[in-house]
Amino acid sequence: MPRPVRVRFAPSPTGLLHIGSAHTGLFNWLFARKEKGRFLLRIEDTDTARSRPEWVDAIFEVLEWMGMDWDEEVVYQSSRFEQHISRAESLVEAGKAYRCYYLPEELEARRKEALAEGRSWRNDRRYADITAAEAEALEGEGRKPVIRLKIPDGKTVFKDRILGEIEVENETIDDFVIVRSNGTPLYHLAVVVDDVDMDVSHIIRGIDHVTNTTKHIHLFQALDAELPEFAHLPSILGEDKKKLSKRHGAVSVSEYRDAGYLPDAVVNFLSLLGWQTGDDQEFFTRAELMQRFSLDQVHKRDTVFDLRKFEWLNGQHIMALPNEELWTLAKPFMVRAGLIGDGQPIDHDYAMEVVGLLRERCRTLADFAVQGGFFFTDDFDYNPKAVRKHWSKEPDAVAVRIGWLRDEFTKLASFDTEAVEEVVRNLSEREGLKAAQFIHPCRVALTGEMAGPSLFHLIVVLGKEACVDRLEKALVRLPEVVEQAAIGQG
Ligand code: GLU
Repeated sequence: MPRPVRVRFAPSPTGLLHIGSAHTGLFNWLFARKEKGRFLLRIEDTDTARSRPEWVDAIFEVLEWMGMDWDEEVVYQSSRFEQHISRAESLVEAGKAYRCYYLPEELEARRKEALAEGRSWRNDRRYADITAAEAEALEGEGRKPVIRLKIPDGKTVFKDRILGEIEVENETIDDFVIVRSNGTPLYHLAVVVDDVDMDVSHIIRGIDHVTNTTKHIHLFQALDAELPEFAHLPSILGEDKKKLSKRHGAVSVSEYRDAGYLPDAVVNFLSLLGWQTGDDQEFFTRAELMQRFSLDQVHKRDTVFDLRKFEWLNGQHIMALPNEELWTLAKPFMVRAGLIGDGQPIDHDYAMEVVGLLRERCRTLADFAVQGGFFFTDDFDYNPKAVRKHWSKEPDAVAVRIGWLRDEFTKLASFDTEAVEEVVRNLSEREGLKAAQFIHPCRVALTGEMAGPSLFHLIVVLGKEACVDRLEKALVRLPEVVEQAAIGQG
C-alpha cells in the first residue's frame, strides 16, 4: 500500500509571506490536490523574538486569498514544546543522543586546534557516556548541557524527487545540537518531531534546506520513524540572476494583491516557476493546474522571476473574467484612487460598459483606475504630452474643430457609435481634413489622454451630455492648458 499523501507548508511568521515561501506552499498544495492527499499548515513560531501574531494572521489571509485551503487544524509549533523535549529525552535514554557539557569557548578552541592541524572537528563525545555522579559534578561547576544527536559513521544517502540521489559523508555532519543549554528545542528537532507526529509523507521545500535534510534524516531514523520522500524546489532568482530579494521590488504576495493582481494569476505564475509543463502552454486555470501539476516535471536549475510575464499572465486572467466579476474586483481600486466614493451607487449598465471597454487594455486591476478614471470624473488633468501633440500645434484651429463637434453632438437624436462616427466623417469631408484631425483633439478633450479605448465607443459610453460638457470645458481651458504644456516642456 503506498503511503497516503500528507504534505505540510511550514512558514515562519516573521514577516509578510514572501513570494518564495508562497511558491513552496503552492507546490505542496498542488501536489496534495493532484494526489488527492492532505495539505497541512504548520506555523513555525518558535522564534519568539521574530514571530508575531499579526504575521500569522497575514499568512492565513494570503493563503485564503490565493485559494490554498488547508486540511485539518493548524499546528502551532510553539504549542508542541513538550513533545519536542520528551522526544529528545527518549533519544538520550536510548543512547542515540547525549548531553554534552562542553562550554562554547572550549568547543571553539578545539575547532581552532583542529583547523590548525588541517583536520575538521567533530564532537569527540567526551561526555556521552559519563555517570550520573560525573554529570552532577559538572553541573555543580555551573555547566549546563546541550543535547546532541549521535551521527553514525558512514554515508547519508537519499533520493530527492527533484535533485536525484544525494550523498553526504557523515564525517561532514557533526553531532548537532537538538536541545539548547537553556532547555529549548532547536529547529531541527522541532521540525522532525512535528513531521513525524503529523505523519508527513512528502517534504517539499526550498533547495536551501538540503543541508538540513541530511541532518533531519538522522533524526527520523533515530526516532524510528518512516522517512518521508524529499523534494527540494529550485531557487527563485531576480532578472539579474541574484536570489530574489527586496532589491528586485515587491517580494511579498500581498504587495501583488494590493497592486491589482488576481489570485488565479499569482497561482498560475508561481506554478510555472520550476515546473516544466511539457508543452508551451502558459495560461492555466486553477482546475487545470490541480489536474496537471506533477512534481516529477519540476526541474532543479534556478528559475527566474519574470515580472513582465507575470503582468501578461495577469492580463490574460483579467480577460478570462466576466465583466460583472471584474467590476466587483476593480471597484475597490477606483475607490482607493478617489474616483468613486466608498458605497457610492454606480449605474450597473454604465459600469459594465466601462469594464467592457477597458478589459483588454488592463494588466492589473489598478489599471482600471489609471486608464478609466475619466469615466468617473471630468476633473482630470490634460496630459501635457497629449496637449502638445494634438492641441498645441494649431490651437485656434483645434478649438474651432472642438466647437463643431460640440455643436454636431448636441444635435444628434440618437447617440450611438454609427451616428458619432458619421459626425466625424461628415465634418472632415466638409472641411477637407483628415478624420484624425478631429479624433485626436477630441480624445484629449474627453479623456485628457492621447491613447485609450476606441474613441467612438467611449463617446457613446460617456453619453451625449457628458461629451458636450467636456468639449465645452476643453474650449474654455484650451488656451491656458496649451500655455502650461509649453512651460512644462521646459
Ligand atoms: N519554517 C521554515 C521556513 O520558513 C520551513 C521549514 C521546513 O519546511 O521544513 O523556512
